[in-house]
Amino acid sequence: MTQTIDFLSHLNSSQRLAVEHFCGPLLVVAGAGSGKTRALTYRIANLILQHRVDPENILAVTFTNKAAREMKERIEKLFAQQLSVSFTGKPWEALNPDEQTRVRSRIYKTYIKPLWVGTFHALCAKILRFDINKYKDEKGRSWNQNFSIFDESDAQSLVKQIVTQQLNLDDKKFNHKSVRYAISNAKNQGLSPQEFERSQPNYRGRTIAQVYSLYQDKLAENNALDFDDLILVPVQLFQQNEQILAYWHRKFCHILVDEYQDTNRTQYDLIRLLVTGGVESSAFKDWQNRSIFVVGDADQSIYSFRMADFTILMDFQGDFGDGLPDDDTRTMVKLEENYRSRENILQAANHLIEKNTERIDKVLKPTRDPGSPIYYYQAEDEQDEAEFVVQQIRQLQRNTEAENWGDFAILYRTNAQSRPLEEILVRSNIPYHVVGGLKFYDRKEVKDALAYLRSLVNPADTMSLLRTINTPRRGIGKATIDNLVNAASELGVPLWEMLADETSVQTLAGRSAKAVLKFTQLMSQFKDNWRDRKASEIAQAIMEESGYIQDLKSQGTDEAENRLQNVFELFNAILQFEEENLDATLEDFLASASLSSDLDNLQEGQESVSLMTLHSAKGLEFPVVFLVGLEQGLFPNFRSIDDPASLEEERRLCYVGITRAQEQLFLTHARSRRLWATREPAVSSQFLAELPTDLLSNSVPSKRFTTVPSAETAKAPGAKTRKRPSANTPQNWQVGDRVLHTTFGVGNVTHIFSSGTKMSIAVEFSGGGRKILDPAIAPLQRL
Ligand code: ATP
Ligand code: MG
Repeated sequence: MTQTIDFLSHLNSSQRLAVEHFCGPLLVVAGAGSGKTRALTYRIANLILQHRVDPENILAVTFTNKAAREMKERIEKLFAQQLSVSFTGKPWEALNPDEQTRVRSRIYKTYIKPLWVGTFHALCAKILRFDINKYKDEKGRSWNQNFSIFDESDAQSLVKQIVTQQLNLDDKKFNHKSVRYAISNAKNQGLSPQEFERSQPNYRGRTIAQVYSLYQDKLAENNALDFDDLILVPVQLFQQNEQILAYWHRKFCHILVDEYQDTNRTQYDLIRLLVTGGVESSAFKDWQNRSIFVVGDADQSIYSFRMADFTILMDFQGDFGDGLPDDDTRTMVKLEENYRSRENILQAANHLIEKNTERIDKVLKPTRDPGSPIYYYQAEDEQDEAEFVVQQIRQLQRNTEAENWGDFAILYRTNAQSRPLEEILVRSNIPYHVVGGLKFYDRKEVKDALAYLRSLVNPADTMSLLRTINTPRRGIGKATIDNLVNAASELGVPLWEMLADETSVQTLAGRSAKAVLKFTQLMSQFKDNWRDRKASEIAQAIMEESGYIQDLKSQGTDEAENRLQNVFELFNAILQFEEENLDATLEDFLASASLSSDLDNLQEGQESVSLMTLHSAKGLEFPVVFLVGLEQGLFPNFRSIDDPASLEEERRLCYVGITRAQEQLFLTHARSRRLWATREPAVSSQFLAELPTDLLSNSVPSKRFTTVPSAETAKAPGAKTRKRPSANTPQNWQVGDRVLHTTFGVGNVTHIFSSGTKMSIAVEFSGGGRKILDPAIAPLQRL
C-alpha cells in the first residue's frame, strides 16, 4: 500500500525535490535557515514511509548529540501524525493520552530505535562495539569490545603524565594542550608516530613524536581510544578488512550528513568507504537502492582549526556524480528561501557574507516581514555591555511576547567573555546556562563515578582504576600504588590482574595490603554481576559501597554538598538514559557519557537564557540574539586580521551568528575591555562597518514585537506550549504531590532533584512507570 504522505505539504518545491530523492548522490546547498536540516529529517521519514526502506539501513550524521535527539523526536512526531489512522483508525488528535502513548511506543520500537542517527563519534563508537576486535594497529596491537573512550580531558591528562612523569620534560615548554593538539593533527593526517617523527626537522617536533608514541602505547594498554581514533580506527579497519567493510556497506544503503561543510578528511574517507564499499568513488556506479545525501553551506564552514575542509563539499558532485548515467544529472538542489529570520536580519547577513571572495554566490530570499532594525550599542566597557544586554532581556521579557528566558541567546567569540555576563545575570536573578562551560561530565566527582563504572566494564582501563583506588581515601598510599603499578608493568599485565592476586598484593602492598584487598574484593563483587544488573542500580550501589557518598556527606561543606548533588544528578542522567534507550547497557551509557561533547550541555532547557560561543551556535535558532564583543582583535580575532583566509573564516562565523536570530538581533561592542588581565582600549569590529547602515539603529527598541512560533512548534503533536506559568523552583514542589500529566496520567512525586538552575521531579505514575520530568516544561498539572 502506498501512503499519501501528508507532511510533504510542510515543504517548498525545492525541499520536496530533495526529500523525494531516492537513489544516487544528492547535494543540498543553501544558506542559513533555508530548511536544510528540515529537508534531511523529512527525507528519512519519506524513505521509510514512501520507499519502505528499513530504518536499520539508514545512517544519518548530525553535528551534535542534541541535534540527533531532536531529529529522532521530530521523525517520531511526523510518524505519529501519519500512522495514527492506520494503527488505530483515528487521527492523532482524536486519541486519548493512553492511546497516544501506545502509538508512540510502537513507533519508537519499529521505526526510531533501529535508526542510526548520531554524530560521527557516536556512530563510529557503535560500529566499533561490534568489530573492533578485528582491528590491528601498525604495531599489531588489538582492542576488545569493552574499550574505554578517553575524552579530551582524559587525553590531555594522559599527555601531561607522559610529559612530566615519564619523560621528565618541562610542562611549560611542552604544554600538554599544545602537545595533544599536535598529536591530534598528526592522527588526523593519518600519520603514525614513526611517520610523524620522520617529518619533524627539530628537537621539539621529535620530542612530540616520542610523546605521541608513548601516548599510543598507553591507549593500547588501557584498551582505550581517544576521539580521533573513533573515526580513524573504523577507516583503517575498513581498509584492512574487505569483509567487514562489505558488511557495513551493505547495511547502510542510505547515508545522510548534515553540516557537510565541516567534514574533515578522515570523516570524508569513512563516508566514501561506506558508500562505495571500497570501489574508487569516481568508478562507483551501483546506485540501485542506495544513496548519499549531504546538506551544507560553505558560508558556514567554521571549523578549519579542527581540520574541517569545505572543499569536500565543493567537490561532492565530482566525487560521487561521475559514474551516473547521462540522464541522471540532477545531483544538486539549491534552496533559496529563508524561513528563519526577519528580512532585515537576513539582508544584513547576506550583505556581510558577500564581502568574502572565496565563495559560490547564492541567493537567499526572505519569506518574512522586515521586522525591527538591528540594534547596536556602543558600551563603555564589558561591564556596561553586560548591563545593557541584561536590561534589554528584562525589558523584552516583560513587555513583549518573547517571554520565555529560553527565547534569548547571547553569543560571543571566546569562552572568557561569559564571565561579566554571568555575573550580571546572577545578580538580576535571570536563569541562564552556559553551553560548553565546564561540562557536567568533566566535573571531578562525575569523573570519579564514571571511573568506577569504567573499571568494571573494562578491566584493562588502568587509568580509571588508578583514579578510584584511593578515592575516597582508604589508606592506600602513593608508594604502595607505585609498587603495584611498577610490578604490573614489569609483568606486562594490567594493574587489575595484579590487584586480583592476593599473594602479590600481600607482598607488594606491605601495611596497606588489607586496604587494597578490601578494595579488590568490592570491585570483584561488582565485576561478577554487572551485566545482570541495570546500569542505574550498579552506579548507585558502587558509589554507596565504595564509601564515596559517605565521604562527601561527612565533609559537611557547601562544596561537598554540591559534589554530592552532581553525583545524584549522574544517577538521574543514567535513569533518564535508560528510559530513553530501552535495553540500554552500562557500556552504552558510558559511551554516551564520554561522547557528550561540550556542545551538549546537560542543563539545556527552555527556561533559561543561553550563553555560548559562536562556534557552538551552529544549526540553532533563537527569537532574540545578542552578538557581543564586536571589536577588532576580538572578533575578528587578532590572529586573523592580517591573514585573508582566516579573516574570511571569521566573517563566516559572524554570518553564522547573525543568522541564528529569528525576530531580533542586537550587536554590541565596548570602548575598552579587560580580557586577558589587562584593560585595553577597543575599536569596533570591521564587521559592524561592513553592514548596511540603513538596517542598523542605535536607538533602543521600545516597540512590541511578536514571536511567530515556527510551523513545527505550532503543529507538532505533543509540542510544548510556549506560555506556561513557571513552576520551576524547588520550593514549589514536595515529595508526595499528586499530578496529572497529559500523556502519562495521574502520579505521585517521589523525588525532587535540583542542581544549579536545573530542577526536575521524579513521578511514579498510577498507570505504571516512573518518569523524570522538568515541571517547567512538562504538560503537567498539580492536583
Ligand atoms: P542552518 O544553516 O542554520 O543549519 P537550515 O538550513 O538547516 O539552517 P532549518 O533549521 O532546517 O534550516 O530551518 C530553519 C527554520 O525554518 C526552522 O524553524 C524550520 O522549522 C523552518 N522551516 C524550514 N522549512 C520550512 C518551510 N518549508 N516552511 C516553513 N518553515 C520552514
Ligand atoms: Mg541546519
